[in-house]
Amino acid sequence: MATNSHIEWTDATWNPVTGCTKISPGCKHCYAERLSHRLQLMGQANYRNGFKLTLQPQMLDLPLRWKTPKRIFVNSMSDLFHKDVPTDYIKRVFDAMKRAHWHQYQVLTKRSERVLELSSELEWSPQIWMGVSIENAKYKHRIDDLRQTGAHVKFLSLEPLLGSLGKLNLRAIDWAIVGGESGATNALSQVWRFSSNSGAVSKRAKRGARWKAARGIKCP
Ligand code: SF4
Repeated sequence: MATNSHIEWTDATWNPVTGCTKISPGCKHCYAERLSHRLQLMGQANYRNGFKLTLQPQMLDLPLRWKTPKRIFVNSMSDLFHKDVPTDYIKRVFDAMKRAHWHQYQVLTKRSERVLELSSELEWSPQIWMGVSIENAKYKHRIDDLRQTGAHVKFLSLEPLLGSLGKLNLRAIDWAIVGGESGATNALSQVWRFSSNSGAVSKRAKRGARWKAARGIKCP
């Protein structure tokens, strides 16, 4: 958990789960893994297990204690939809987001299949923004999974971009973050905002780049 996040497209991070396992090439230089080990060495209690997946139920009510509205990146140090996070626990995280409704939440995952599988069981409050990471064309199916969920706002993290994505179907996608590998220094990330029409990223880039550019490092 941290406020004043150095990720410029968010205000704070909230980690009701820490730790993860690698699932696709975009995980290779996982920022959360490196930071988890550093925090473990520093003796931080929530990172006593290093990068091993660990539920942090004592963190569940943190957004309720933040009285000023924030844009919160949920699980910057894990992936909420990891197979070892129980469904009931995911529901508790969603319930916390529902109760602390004055914030906006950005939930990002590489496990789009599980989001889709659980979507009908989850309460998609409007303040919950759901996103998927895509690093190359092989993982574009995550966008199709996301599109079918009940999330009110859907976004893409095209980061780290490891290969061409070709044309993307952006129907029902609201915005995207684009950038290089999180392990690279000074990696530039750009935030693009789309209309909800379909189209190619290259066409949207010009419009989005005028809207906002940001630097940041993040997971998942
Ligand atoms: S936190 Fe994200 S980048 Fe790191 S291993 Fe998990 S899914 Fe991969």
